[in-house]
Amino acid sequence: ETEDERTAQASQLFENFVQASTCKGTLQAFSILCRQLELDPLDYSNFYSSLKTAITSWKVKALWTKLDKRAEHKVYNQGKACQGTRCLIIGGGPCGLRTAIELALLGCKVVVIEKRDTFSRNNVLHLWPYTIHDLRGLGAKKFYGKFCAGSIDHISIRQLQLMLLKVCLILGVEIHVNIEFIKLVEPPEEQHEDSPGWRAEIRPSSHQVSEFDFDVVIGADGRRNTLDGFSRKEFRGKLAIAITANFVNRNTTAEAKVEEISGVAFIFNQKFFLELREETGIDLENIVYYKDHTHYFVMTAKKQSLLDKGVIINDYIETERLLSNDNVNQEALLSYAREAADFGTNYQLPSLDYAINHYGQPDVAMFDFTCMYASENAALIREKHGHQLLVALVGDSLLEPFWPMGTGCARGFLAAFDTAWMVRGWAQGRSPLEILAERESIYRLLPQTTTENISKNFEQYTIDPATRYPNLNSSCVRPHQVRHLFIDGQQDTCHLERGGPTRRSVNLTRRDSEVRPGRLLTWCQKQTEGYRGVDVTDLTSSWRNGLALCALIHRQRPELIDYDSLNEEDVAGNNQLAFDVAEREFGIQPVTLGKEMARQPEPDKLLMVLYLSKFYEAFRNSSR
Ligand code: FAD
Repeated sequence: ETEDERTAQASQLFENFVQASTCKGTLQAFSILCRQLELDPLDYSNFYSSLKTAITSWKVKALWTKLDKRAEHKVYNQGKACQGTRCLIIGGGPCGLRTAIELALLGCKVVVIEKRDTFSRNNVLHLWPYTIHDLRGLGAKKFYGKFCAGSIDHISIRQLQLMLLKVCLILGVEIHVNIEFIKLVEPPEEQHEDSPGWRAEIRPSSHQVSEFDFDVVIGADGRRNTLDGFSRKEFRGKLAIAITANFVNRNTTAEAKVEEISGVAFIFNQKFFLELREETGIDLENIVYYKDHTHYFVMTAKKQSLLDKGVIINDYIETERLLSNDNVNQEALLSYAREAADFGTNYQLPSLDYAINHYGQPDVAMFDFTCMYASENAALIREKHGHQLLVALVGDSLLEPFWPMGTGCARGFLAAFDTAWMVRGWAQGRSPLEILAERESIYRLLPQTTTENISKNFEQYTIDPATRYPNLNSSCVRPHQVRHLFIDGQQDTCHLERGGPTRRSVNLTRRDSEVRPGRLLTWCQKQTEGYRGVDVTDLTSSWRNGLALCALIHRQRPELIDYDSLNEEDVAGNNQLAFDVAEREFGIQPVTLGKEMARQPEPDKLLMVLYLSKFYEAFRNSSR
């Protein structure tokens, strides 16, 4: 075998992988590729570069150039930003896979579990200009030649999943299909050198993923989110019944000529809807048509017309009952959607034969969008027996999209980036409350995002939220407002410990030893010298009224506290002020509440030593 032959063979194996058209086919082609070229996919941090070295044909050059360009973004710190962080992603939908890519670029070990082994959704997602730009940057055209050609701004869900799956594999993400996440398993109480950390209970339970210890878990399992700790806000709007329908696309010239119906334009076209109603009895609020693998339609229908046309049999108040299987006449639904599609395209589509769905049935479905949900919070941190776990939601699990408006993938990707940003902060050892507060601040923007109000400079987009949201205020939620998202089961001193997988064990003595109490006392005395009402003689009672704490902060940053206005008697107020300012400005988490300080005769020594040493660490190099 000559060198040229080997190059050609490697290139062919890679092309087979790139061209694979199913989920299973892709995984298979990938495993053949790795075996033949002796590449180890588990060696995640070197996998991409080994693959590049092995596949050198001109056909892949452009792809490598694109991926290299992406990987070179400063935020990833050459794949070292999150070295050592292990992440589990639940769900291989577009948002789970997109998150996996970012985490892999940051240098995390990433494992994705997906309960199915087929990508079978015909439905089509609307893409915002930034998502098109983003996907092009990941080599979308290489994986799917027709990607957003011309003015096309949509893609079928399955095609999108397929290309993201391929990028994931190239970047060393470990993917397991036919694995269902059941629940989190806490680390055991007995801790020794190699005790397990956080793990997942999965089905089938014997699979090796059940032994994977992780520091971060991402819920990307769609609308039925399985992770605990996230309550849902529901927005009840007016009754909205959406119908999706997919017809076979035979790619004939006649079909090619038919114009798409873009959502935005049609929502306002009253004349069209009046004519439709008069001619057919079908009453719609909107309709979208995309020509993709299938002819895809999504429309919102008025209840009365569905009753009149016999699609819905009996009228019930509760939508669940109204749309239940036994209250829907499937044949009538098929005709209703077909008639609407036919009218909408001016009877130009030659044959409207239904495509077949995952269940072997004609692909039409009716969904209730009356009640839209959003998760109350985007992330939380659990701590058990010294192990911290960052838990986050992305995609439909986080915020339900309204399909006729096609916001799912666009907002889903934004959340994927924001989540990756949080994981980066976490790996850098920023304090838990600080990163949770920042995440929640950013999450508040998500439901309001539109193509108009996000940054237009797509070239600059990274996981750093500041590159995407103009006028971002990443501290509108304060650390003390997210305390309930730090769940440790036992309200002990672990708030003091900073996050980050490299410092997983919470160990008071170790933190303690960083500064000896004697030295700490001397330093505090020096810092608070000369302040009215302050006389530091110990690390407990001298601090009770809060003035010393305020003085400590004032010495460092006089603009943060108006020291002269403080009242010695207001113990709770003084302490709370110091706690809040220290948390907000220096990321130093409080150990207790202002009112607790007022209630006790003197503060707990261990807590005070820990708390004050944070100030020592933060200020000692800049001591005035
Ligand atoms: P999803 O795409 O829903 O992916 C979640 C994944 O998690 C799935 O692959 C699922 O199998 C897997 N999963 C779930 N539970 C577990 C578990 N316990 N363990 C392991 N894996 C699990 N949007 C539109 O804009 N227009 C449409 O017409 C449209 N049609 C849709 C039709 C269907 C049937 C569904 C489910 C969604 C549809 N959507 C539509 C929504 C759109 O698919 C999502 O907004 C988009 O795919 C991003 O979603 P996601 O990645 O967050 O979740």
